Amino acid sequence: MLVYKFGGASVKNAEAVKNLYNIVKNSTQNLVVVISAMGKTTNSLERLVTLYFKKNSKWKDSFKEIKSFHFEIVGELFADKDDAGIQDIQHRFDQLEERLSQDPSLNFNFEYDQIVSYGEIFSTVIVNAYLNKVGLASKWIDIRRCLKTDNHYREAQINFELSQQLVKDSFSFKDSKIYVTQGFIGSNENNLTTTLGREGSDYTAAVLAFLLNLKHVTIWKDVPGVLNADPKWFDDTIKLDKISYLDAIELAYYGTSVIHPKTIQPLQHKGIKLNVRSFLNPDDPGTVIGDSSYSKLIPSFIFKMDQVLMQIFPRDFSFIAEDNLVKIFGYFVRHALKINLMQNSAVSFKVCLNNDQSRIPNVIDDLNEHFDVSYENGLELITIRYYDNATIERVLVNKDLLLEQRNKQTIQMVVKDLGSNT
Ligand code: ASP
Ligand code: MG
Repeated sequence: MLVYKFGGASVKNAEAVKNLYNIVKNSTQNLVVVISAMGKTTNSLERLVTLYFKKNSKWKDSFKEIKSFHFEIVGELFADKDDAGIQDIQHRFDQLEERLSQDPSLNFNFEYDQIVSYGEIFSTVIVNAYLNKVGLASKWIDIRRCLKTDNHYREAQINFELSQQLVKDSFSFKDSKIYVTQGFIGSNENNLTTTLGREGSDYTAAVLAFLLNLKHVTIWKDVPGVLNADPKWFDDTIKLDKISYLDAIELAYYGTSVIHPKTIQPLQHKGIKLNVRSFLNPDDPGTVIGDSSYSKLIPSFIFKMDQVLMQIFPRDFSFIAEDNLVKIFGYFVRHALKINLMQNSAVSFKVCLNNDQSRIPNVIDDLNEHFDVSYENGLELITIRYYDNATIERVLVNKDLLLEQRNKQTIQMVVKDLGSNT
C-alpha cells in the first residue's frame, strides 16, 4: 500500500492528468492518490472568495474564469458530453455558484475554507472520472468525511484520535485498489469544511500514511527531487539522493519549497519513507527521505526574497524580557504572521518576515500601543544548512549583511542586495 500525492502542477492541464494516469496505472500496489487543486486554482479561488466576501459582484467573472479553466480540461479528457464525470463536475460548480449567490457570513476565514476547498473537489472529481473512463477502477473519497480537524479555519489542526478509525474505514481497500482523494481539506466536528494551510496536501498525504500504517509516501513534483538550492537562484544545484528526516524538517522549516514543513513529523514518527519524484521523469529515483543514516553533509541553500526586517522597541524603555515578548508574540499570533527569524537585544526585538502587506500594517498598529516600530523592506533571508566559510562568502557577494544567526549546522542571514553596479 502506498500514498501517491500529486500537486497542482501535476494536474494543471489535460496532458498532465493523462501523465498522472500513466504513473498510477504502473503501480503494482494498492494506492491512495492524494490530489491538490489544478494548477493555480487555489490562488484563483482566493481572489474569488475575497471579492465575494466584499460583496463585489466581480466574483462572477472570477467564478466564470475558474469554471472555464476546468471545463477546458474536462473537454479534452472526455469526448462524450454526457459522460457521468462531466455531469458530476457540472453539479459541483452549480453547488459553488449556489453558495456564492447567498450572502457571506461575517467570518472571512470560514468563508475561505468553504469556497477555496472546491479546488480540490473539482480536481479529484475530474481525475477520478478520467481514471475510470480509461479503465482504472478508482474510487472517489470525500476526505471531509474522515479527516477531522479543529475549528481553526485556514490553519486547521488534525484531530488524530477522531480521524483514526474513520480513515481506516474509508480506505479499507475492500471495495477498491485505488482511492482518489483531496489534499489540503478536512472537516470539523460539525462537518463544516476546514483547510490545513496553503500547500497542505503533502501534509494530508503524510497523515493518511500515518493513520493507515503505510510504509511509503511518494510526492510527485515537477522537480527531480530535493535539490540543495532553488534553480531559480543557483545554476549548479545538486539533487540530494537521500536525506534524513531531520534535514528534511530543517530544510522545509527554513523555506525549501519542495516539501511542506509539517509533512515530515508524522512520517518520522512511524519510520515511513518519503520519496520525492519527478512526474516528468517517473523512472528516476528522486530523493528518498528516511532515518539518520541518510544524512549527508552537503550544503543546502534557501533564499527567501521580499523580506521585511522589523525592529520593535518598548515605549517605556524597558528591556526586552518575557513580559514584552508575550505581548509581541500575542500580536503576531493574532494576525497570523509567521516569523522567519528573530533576535533580541536588551532594548529591541528584531523579526524577519515575508512582506505580507495584508497583515503587516495591522500588526504594527497593534504593536504601537506599547512599542515603537521601524522596518525595512526589500530584503532577502539566506539560510545555509551545513555551511562553511566558502559557502557564506559565495552568497554574500554584493550583499550588505544586516543580521545573522547561526548554530552548528545552520546559518541564517538577512541581507540587502547592493545591486550589480556597486
Ligand atoms: N491547493 C492547495 C494550495 O495550493 C494545497 C496544495 O497545493 O498543497 O495551497
Ligand atoms: Mg496547490
